[in-house]
Amino acid sequence: MLYQSLNYSSKPENFREAVIKGISPDKGLYYPNKIKPLSKNFINNLSKFHIHEIAFEAINQFIGNSIPELKLRSIIEDTLNFDFPLIKIEKQIFSLELFHGPTLAFKDVGARFMARCLEFFNKNSNERITVLVATSGDTGAAVANGFFNISGIDVVILYPKGKISKIQEKQMTTLGGNISALEVDGVFDDCQEMVKKAFLDPQLISKRKLTSANSINIARWLPQMFYFFDGYIKANKFNLPINFSVPSGNFGNLCAGLIAHKLGLPINHFLACTNINDTVPRYLNSGIYKPNPTIKTISNAMDVGNPSNFIRIQKVYNNDFNKLKKNISGYSFNDRETKNCIKNIYQNSNYIMDPHGAIGYMGLKKYNLKHTNEIGVFMETAHPIKFSNIVEKIVDEKIKIPKRLSKTFKCKKKSLKITEYMEFKDFLLKS
Ligand SMILES: *Cc1c(COP(=O)(O)O)cnc(C)c1O
Repeated sequence: MLYQSLNYSSKPENFREAVIKGISPDKGLYYPNKIKPLSKNFINNLSKFHIHEIAFEAINQFIGNSIPELKLRSIIEDTLNFDFPLIKIEKQIFSLELFHGPTLAFKDVGARFMARCLEFFNKNSNERITVLVATSGDTGAAVANGFFNISGIDVVILYPKGKISKIQEKQMTTLGGNISALEVDGVFDDCQEMVKKAFLDPQLISKRKLTSANSINIARWLPQMFYFFDGYIKANKFNLPINFSVPSGNFGNLCAGLIAHKLGLPINHFLACTNINDTVPRYLNSGIYKPNPTIKTISNAMDVGNPSNFIRIQKVYNNDFNKLKKNISGYSFNDRETKNCIKNIYQNSNYIMDPHGAIGYMGLKKYNLKHTNEIGVFMETAHPIKFSNIVEKIVDEKIKIPKRLSKTFKCKKKSLKITEYMEFKDFLLKS
């Protein structure tokens, strides 16, 4: 399989090249040029297979000859070494918990898969790869953990000082080894600017092989379809049409679900749910795509005014708005509604949601008003402890820290404080 740039002026590349480049030279996102559905027989018998086997069948055609079969199978086993439990919240509404990985957010799946692909691609080279990441929280944590101890690769994370949660900071700054954390005196955009500048700095790129672990990379994006298969199998026990509700920011997660659908997974309908950064829900209602500046909310991992994967979503439907609208409905909710929702669900169902998952739940409730005999599954994209400063106040309850995290809490933070680009550059030249 080849990947074409959605700007259509660079040449198509295979999986390996598209992963290493991240984004095509003409700045377009890579998109698979042909997607072949899985056999009906396989889809009808999904529940008979292990998730590792299903994941292999689902992603095999996207990898092509870039990774040999046995290696690909072992990458999948290493990636999917935790579960995605489906928890009943109330009649016909379920939470698909994607937060049982090491950093408690769904981004673990993509980060772990991408790290292992890059390691394989670089294994015969004596040049190390340096992955640069600017983060507002969850991405840095998942990338740090996913790439920790991966041979031949160094990771440098830039995060805005004082603007991420304690847990997220611990997750990025306590690993050491091949992971370095730089604490930038500024906001997320300053971190992003420094990373962009580094990629264009001739002195740096002549000395170090730089790449990014951005969510638009196909190796982070595509493996996210694995848990749509897993969630579908679990929800299919009830023999009713199944709808998936995806709390969205950059729309990589939803877009991976749409690819699973294209492979033949019989998902009845998708819900694209956002906070008040509602560019996509507005588009679904009006047919007009008009991005707005980003607004800060309590579901901050979805504070995206101009989602980068939107162009891929359009491509899934060959830019046919009517087809797209038939499969996806959009909903958006403000912070007040989100807080009320977390509180009500805790009182009625004794389940603590995080602000992102709550938005997915609210979308389902609206959709279900008109679709009574269907099952709704919302993606619970992060563990509520990651947003404990918000959630504990709402439910008036301390959230228990998962075991695998308490170890991180005890480790000492190690970071380098920087204020300007030159310090970042010096660090890269000297380390
Ligand atoms: C990144 C993230 C999202 C948004 O996912 P996209 O793929 O960017 O739409 C939602 N919830 C949480 C907790 C996240 O970390």
